[in-house]
Amino acid sequence: MFYESRSNFLRVKCLDCGNQQIVFDRAASYVKCIICGKTLVEPTGGKANIKAQILEVLD
Ligand SMILES: [Zn+2]
Repeated sequence: MFYESRSNFLRVKCLDCGNQQIVFDRAASYVKCIICGKTLVEPTGGKANIKAQILEVLD
């Protein structure tokens, strides 16, 4: 999914359990699914690696 290169909050869906939660796309630490513990966001030092389905970009 396309989104701009600035920082955003994203609504993502866990690929394992379907849980939806809000994550920051420049997270500095790992973000895990609050339900099943799957890693949703992997920090890279810049824009984080999103390991979940992005449903929506929030302003
Ligand atoms: Zn999950």
